[in-house]
Amino acid sequence: MYYIGIDLGGTGIKGGIVSKEGEILVKKEVRTPVEEGPQKVSFEIIHLIQDLIKELTISLKDIVSIGVGIPGVANKEGMVYYCTNLHWTNVPLGDLLRKAFGNIPIYVENDATVAALAEYVKGSMKNKDTGVMFTLGTGVGGGIIINGKVFSGGHGLGSEIGHMIVGENFYHCNCGNNGCLETFCSATAMIKYAKKLIEEENKDTVIVEKVKEDKEKIDAKIIMDAAKEGDQLANKVVDRLVMYLGIGIGNIMNTLDPQIISIGGGLSKSGDFLLDKVKKEALKHVIFKELEYGDIVIATLGNDAGIIGSAMLGV
Ligand code: ZN
Repeated sequence: MYYIGIDLGGTGIKGGIVSKEGEILVKKEVRTPVEEGPQKVSFEIIHLIQDLIKELTISLKDIVSIGVGIPGVANKEGMVYYCTNLHWTNVPLGDLLRKAFGNIPIYVENDATVAALAEYVKGSMKNKDTGVMFTLGTGVGGGIIINGKVFSGGHGLGSEIGHMIVGENFYHCNCGNNGCLETFCSATAMIKYAKKLIEEENKDTVIVEKVKEDKEKIDAKIIMDAAKEGDQLANKVVDRLVMYLGIGIGNIMNTLDPQIISIGGGLSKSGDFLLDKVKKEALKHVIFKELEYGDIVIATLGNDAGIIGSAMLGV
């Protein structure tokens, strides 16, 4: 039997057919026609699924479930309450897919939750009953696994770790609050803070050289690279991220005490450089200093996590 996983993003729709063990057997990607609205996007998803089935020369009756990871929030019926990147509010994605695929169960979940599930089944959180994943990308996502099951709260609105309030910031979060983890620990946050520092205090940084004076070209990788080279301003940016991520992870350790915490998303590519600092910082905030807490690790599945995790929603 086979499971279909769809990773719906703002630029691309990735889909795959996955085995029960979380192995991707075939995968494909198409562009997300965001500007043409939700009907057209769901039509593309349906097409992609039909193509995948054809490619593996199986039929619909071999499919156990279809799971979709979305950059937003949905309820159990697959009603997407909002999806900022796609400009969606109240889109009945589950119903649209059910019309095409009859009684195959359809699951729609937040993409960070889905990534956490993938890491639990096949990646960095394997063989741990409780795990929490932080995805540090354009924003900060969160996924919580409790006793082997994804936890999204009583209304599907939980696990928004990126909107945990951890301090006071010089700009507001997209959600309207001030001080969300996302505004300290995302790529966006790094870029905003680096630009602020360059403007206010110090133009003497290799970041400016790396982008040939064009500040619009500053990205998180350039800042990370500059920090690794010992650049002072870049390290100030990274240290600030680390400080707040330490607070966020410390809060999770004290409230949930997960067996493992996994860091994924684009910023996790900086590997041990970031991880070593974050581990030290998080442990400053745990209550029982002499007792053991879950390890903090880097996620291992990368771009495939969305396909694998959404497929695993039906296992
Ligand atoms: Zn927020």
